[in-house]
Amino acid sequence: MKQNNRNEMSTELPGYVDRFRQTEYVGENRCTPCTIVNVTIAVVVSTALTFAAIPVGIAFFVFSMAAIYLRGYLVPGTPTLTKTYFPDWLLRIFDKSEIGAPTEAPKASDREPEEVLTEASVIETCEEIDDLCLDNEFQTAWQESMERVLEDGAEKSDLSRILGADEEELEFEEHESAFLARIDGHRLGQWESHAALVADLAAARELSDRYGDWDELSVDNQSRILSGLRIFLETCPECSGTITAEQETVESCCRSMEVVAATCEDCDARILEVEQN
Ligand SMILES: [Zn+2]
Repeated sequence: MKQNNRNEMSTELPGYVDRFRQTEYVGENRCTPCTIVNVTIAVVVSTALTFAAIPVGIAFFVFSMAAIYLRGYLVPGTPTLTKTYFPDWLLRIFDKSEIGAPTEAPKASDREPEEVLTEASVIETCEEIDDLCLDNEFQTAWQESMERVLEDGAEKSDLSRILGADEEELEFEEHESAFLARIDGHRLGQWESHAALVADLAAARELSDRYGDWDELSVDNQSRILSGLRIFLETCPECSGTITAEQETVESCCRSMEVVAATCEDCDARILEVEQN
């Protein structure tokens, strides 16, 4: 009987500890600047307490580390405080959200999206207003291509070809606010949604036909061009709903930022998010 009780306790313990976990601030969401600030505070306070009584200092240090590990921070409100008082350039370095923050800065050898899209006759000056519009023929081809990608379930095979990766090892992960491609746990790419990925893959099919040097461009360069092209998308690749753009504030682990977001009115798929500077 006693043995049973002990077994029960040992299985319940992680759940009990788990209740203190704040998933929005730990693991992948951990805010590095907050953690550094909190560990520093914990060390300073613990050291001060050891002057009063060594065991108290040690106990406080252990408690602090457990709190930071499980909850992401020790001092209530630090995620908000760092967001408010830390300079944005510093937070941006630690920010794990890739929205508005390309994995790598454009290189000098990179082609400008607008140049490539104009040369490939994908965009042109609009007939009635002074702006850029999608070429009608490309629009139809892109639309048909999106339908084919969806019908064939070609997401993995297309993407693995673009990335030069093994299709079998490629894994997709869908979050509330992101669609990720991983191999062996490493993130290879991130999109705003599955719909955004489908739009990119279909556009890549069309561009490799229309733009001779497409395959010579780096994957980062290609991805900048493809997300630039998503601005012109009027209907949702997944449900054909109308896409509307509006300004929004988005919270990531470390920062809050102003973005222009294009979203499908029908299925809520996020098509594009561009940070405003
Ligand atoms: Zn939709």
